[in-house]
Amino acid sequence: MTAKLIKGTVLREEILEEIKTEVARIRAEYGVVPGLVTILVGSNAASLSYVTLKIKTAHRLGFKEVQENQPETISEEALLDLIAKYNRDDSIHGILIQLPLPKHIDEKKVLNAIDPDKDVDGFHPVNVGRLMIGGDEVKFPSCTPAGIQEMIIRAGVEICGAEVVVVGRSNIVGKPIANMLLQKGEGANATVTVVHTRTRDLASHCRRADILIVAAGVPGLVKPEWIKPGACVIDVGVNRVGERISEKTGRKIAILKGDVDFEEARKVAGFITPVPGGVGPMTITMLMKNTLNSLKFRVASG
Ligand code: NAP
Repeated sequence: MTAKLIKGTVLREEILEEIKTEVARIRAEYGVVPGLVTILVGSNAASLSYVTLKIKTAHRLGFKEVQENQPETISEEALLDLIAKYNRDDSIHGILIQLPLPKHIDEKKVLNAIDPDKDVDGFHPVNVGRLMIGGDEVKFPSCTPAGIQEMIIRAGVEICGAEVVVVGRSNIVGKPIANMLLQKGEGANATVTVVHTRTRDLASHCRRADILIVAAGVPGLVKPEWIKPGACVIDVGVNRVGERISEKTGRKIAILKGDVDFEEARKVAGFITPVPGGVGPMTITMLMKNTLNSLKFRVASG
């Protein structure tokens, strides 16, 4: 058996086109567009590249985009004031703080200062609680788990009644995706097991999975013999295992590997996501979807 590839790069284009169409429709009907502010503190190269990608994507979709690049030395108070300003700004529907923040700033305090109705990353405790309750309560599912769920649905894999095993229990991937897939509703209704470093016999849990979601950050953790034949394998792991020189640019680029032994696993699985090009591209895509939805909630409430 050779698994079908679920490519995030392809799904990203499909979903971004849908968002673009919806933005144009809302602009024509109501004269408004989604507004997103990206707040970057300092000049960390990785953060800068993430923010740049978010800004580029927002522009491509026809969003209003505001960039707030602040110096490393900004005080916590000034940052909180900036957030308060965008909380009040009716043309802004999503506020993004690029993490990590400098050590003198309390990250939790800053993230919790964002209006939960503009928290398009879905990290505010109010949105985490809404996700836990499920159904109509959910406003902004956090983006990587939302991307994973979307990939499984669009691949045509049945989630209802499936045995789902999630490897990893982090607040940004493992816990939210487990919670989303066990909800009563469409694209969910699964029987979910979450495993972690204290789990006895990880392999036996993985072998039961119709859908195996791996978010551990350990390259090659999941062995092919742990995979049920025909299962859907979602590899969230992004691990730098070395560097190579790009033929195109002559620059050094990272060699990335997932948490699953891809070449062997694809011979057993029914569906599998590659790394890179799998879950990765879905995160920013879902961030854009959350920002569009934020505007739609606003329009619906008058
Ligand atoms: P994390 O906060 O480090 O959590 C890792 C989880 O995996 C923990 O719950 C840990 O268990 C569990 N784990 C680690 N080693 C294990 C092992 N040997 N056996 C069983 N469980 C193990 O990581 P994260 O933020 O969730 O990220 C996980 C991976 O996904 C990373 O490679 C990250 O780069 C990637 N990621 C990708 C995206 C994306 O593509 N957009 C987004 C987010 C994360 P304990 O709780 O017991 O320690």
